[in-house]
Amino acid sequence: MGGFNSEPKPCQEYFSKEHNLLRKVIREFVKKEILPNINEWEEAGEFPIELYGQLADLGFLGIGYPEELGGIPGDNFFKIVYTEEMMRSGSAGLVAGIGSMDIAVPVIARHGTPEQKDRFVRPVLAGEKIAALGITEPGGGSDVANIRTTAVKDGNHYIVNGSKTFITSGVRADQLTAAVRTGGEGYDGISFLVIETDTPGYSVGKKLLKTGWWASDTSEIFFDNCRVPVENLIGEENKGFYLIMENFQYERLALCVMGNMTSQMALEESLRYAKEREAFGKKLSGFQVTRHKLAKMATLVEASRELTYRIAAKMDAGVDQIKEISMAKNFATSVSDKVTFDAVQIFGGYGFMREYLVERLYRDNRILSIGGGTAEIMNEIISKMIL
Ligand SMILES: Cc1cc2nc3c(=O)[nH]c(=O)nc-3n(C[C@H](O)[C@H](O)[C@H](O)COP(=O)(O)OP(=O)(O)OC[C@H]3O[C@@H](n4cnc5c(N)ncnc54)[C@H](O)[C@@H]3O)c2cc1C
Repeated sequence: MGGFNSEPKPCQEYFSKEHNLLRKVIREFVKKEILPNINEWEEAGEFPIELYGQLADLGFLGIGYPEELGGIPGDNFFKIVYTEEMMRSGSAGLVAGIGSMDIAVPVIARHGTPEQKDRFVRPVLAGEKIAALGITEPGGGSDVANIRTTAVKDGNHYIVNGSKTFITSGVRADQLTAAVRTGGEGYDGISFLVIETDTPGYSVGKKLLKTGWWASDTSEIFFDNCRVPVENLIGEENKGFYLIMENFQYERLALCVMGNMTSQMALEESLRYAKEREAFGKKLSGFQVTRHKLAKMATLVEASRELTYRIAAKMDAGVDQIKEISMAKNFATSVSDKVTFDAVQIFGGYGFMREYLVERLYRDNRILSIGGGTAEIMNEIISKMIL
């Protein structure tokens, strides 16, 4: 039993003065430049393309990337601060739309040649080009080892045929980091190719209409004999599956943070509303059932956030977190499922109305336990590692 005769010792802080400074700058930007417009962008189904340039000028797009590529290197917590504060826009669609670069270019920044980094990373960090990641195909997203889009070598080119679907930023992207089959069946026949979207034979299908994430565009992509230079191959041929799995770790961390912020905002909205709204002559917060609901929501949010931070810190320390990040994603998204559901319940009919933030949080939340690997796939990973 601790607590007796012991000097209090400082507890671990995840965020330094530099992190907190960055948080302040992003918060101000979101307040001034995004919040006044976000409802309009959500309804329009897209945000202005100029936003990329604005974010790049402030250095936000380069957070976590090497300096020589125009980035601002830093640990996971700089990226966490960025994601948390951008989520304060109340639009996970905006965060996902801008964030497609963070699932598309890290693999190039880590495994690309200097020339590939110059062509495919630098312009994205500068806000001049939009990058998307293409893994999912109409035939299935979970079974990554079964990708069917083919890339057959023909001299100095690969001839790419096939299709992708549900691609975030697919409509506006300038380049797609695409998983293609360069070899035989299974996971060891897959490679990553960067395909420029003005390549003849590359076409974008319809913009898909979604339950949430309205401010981001999502589309199908078709490849019809696209000739892609062999120098666009990232890493080794047929070794792309490992790169995809590595990439997923950081995408899952980002999805944890998005889930936690979704929960946090739904909780804050609910606390405020419960103290304002009256029923049967007293505030909602006067009903024990509401108070306990809020207490449980707050407890879950706290636990989930701490789990995510702990795992992010271990990732920063170079400790393998494949099992843990899968657990954290399932935990964060099950918490955000519950908390957004309860928040709408606390708001009653108003919670179903578009002008209330909890309505959007509830809709936007639904994809979090599907994208970046479904809850079932997370459980597959966890169970394989514990059994
Ligand atoms: C808004 C949005 C944005 C997206 N953005 C991108 C993007 O930018 N790039 C990209 O590549 N993809 C993107 N995706 C795709 C997303 O990653 C996939 O939807 C997801 O991986 C699931 O694939 P699927 O939809 O084909 O479902 P399926 O793989 O067909 O799965 C259907 C159901 O079966 C379950 N299932 C499958 N296999 C198993 C198993 N072995 N055990 C138990 N249950 C199983 C799944 O969990 C799920 O419940 C996006 C999706 C959406 C909706």
